[in-house]
Amino acid sequence: MRIEEKGVRTVLHSDLNNFYASVETLRHPEFRDKPLAVFGSIEDRHGIVLAKNGLAKACGIRTGDVYWQAKKKCPDLTEVQADFSAYYAVSEQIFAVYERYTDKIEPFGIDECWLDVSDCVKYFGSGREIAERISAEIKRKFSLTVSIGVSWNKIFAKLGSDLKKPDAITEITQDNYKTLIWKLPAENLLFVGKATKEKLNKYNIFTIGDLAVADENFLCEKLGKWGVYLRRYANGKDDAPVAQKSGEKIVKSVGNSLTSYRDLVNFDEVKPLLVLLCESVASRLRQGGYGKAHTVKVTATDNLLLTHGKQDRFPVPVRNAKEICERACALFSSFYDWSAPVRAVGVSVSDFTKDGGLFDYSPQEIKNEKLEEAVDKLKEKYGSKCLQRAEILKDKRFFDMDVTGGHLVFSDDNKDNRS
Ligand SMILES: [Mg+2]
Repeated sequence: MRIEEKGVRTVLHSDLNNFYASVETLRHPEFRDKPLAVFGSIEDRHGIVLAKNGLAKACGIRTGDVYWQAKKKCPDLTEVQADFSAYYAVSEQIFAVYERYTDKIEPFGIDECWLDVSDCVKYFGSGREIAERISAEIKRKFSLTVSIGVSWNKIFAKLGSDLKKPDAITEITQDNYKTLIWKLPAENLLFVGKATKEKLNKYNIFTIGDLAVADENFLCEKLGKWGVYLRRYANGKDDAPVAQKSGEKIVKSVGNSLTSYRDLVNFDEVKPLLVLLCESVASRLRQGGYGKAHTVKVTATDNLLLTHGKQDRFPVPVRNAKEICERACALFSSFYDWSAPVRAVGVSVSDFTKDGGLFDYSPQEIKNEKLEEAVDKLKEKYGSKCLQRAEILKDKRFFDMDVTGGHLVFSDDNKDNRS
């Protein structure tokens, strides 16, 4: 039976393979044939492996290994410090690909999401065909691969994307699910963590199939309602909807980063970049209606590609570029010691307070707001370079930089970090 028959949903779960490591390889083609791991921090040698490529995996490196462990397993390891702003920027572009197929997209962290494509099978073909289109498009546009699971529910779609990696499509249908997944360990099921697995094993439930046929009353007695849910999931009885994109995605921060065309050697040289960044961040804060931000974060990447940064929470929230910039400049000066020149800087704001209307603002703030809003309008009409602050004009090449892109960071509070 085709899974998209009447009344049955078609749900995909798409998972970008080795996402952070793959993005780093795209940025540094010279790393392509080397074992590579992305660390949360490498500066202090205490960072852990957040992602690795296939060659590093072959050396036995695992996500969560600490720096020295990883280096011991693989002395030739190429280590890279995570650059989340770059990953978010790519992730945003990939989500734009998904959005061409459906608006029912539920992110599961930065590199995974569910898509309910039930309404578009009539335009694009079966779930598998849609998965093939998405996979081909991501490969063509970004040189990245995905693993996609196709099923009639979220739990099995997720399981499908985990079954074959990298660059694979796995369909779990009403016809094949028993032979395909019932033999797998129970902990492969989403939501079966370590503690639940141990409990299940104690009652001789080892596989998803064992769970599917276990006595419901027994499970309820031993694991409560949760046990009943897990049994349903093992039987594909999961009707949780894929969240609609709008309203469900909560923007947690708005940020932007710029890489300079040359090394910057003092604050006067960094300042124009900070100004450009703060203007773009403030403009997006206004356009997105996110209110004001309590927290400002500044990062600086030096010419050895080490990223330094600092954030601070301010009691009085800000929204306009002038104030964000004052704080960003002060933050930058407080942490950057100029032991190396600066290659890139980033500014992001978070911790939003919803707008309470103009009453929340002082007369001076209202004046600044109005001015910046007018500038937004002019830029919209005549292009982003029609008006610039004097600092930026000091260096013609800064003036030419495009800061209209950037990254939004979405809430991923629900993500279970098992893998
Ligand atoms: Mg992934």
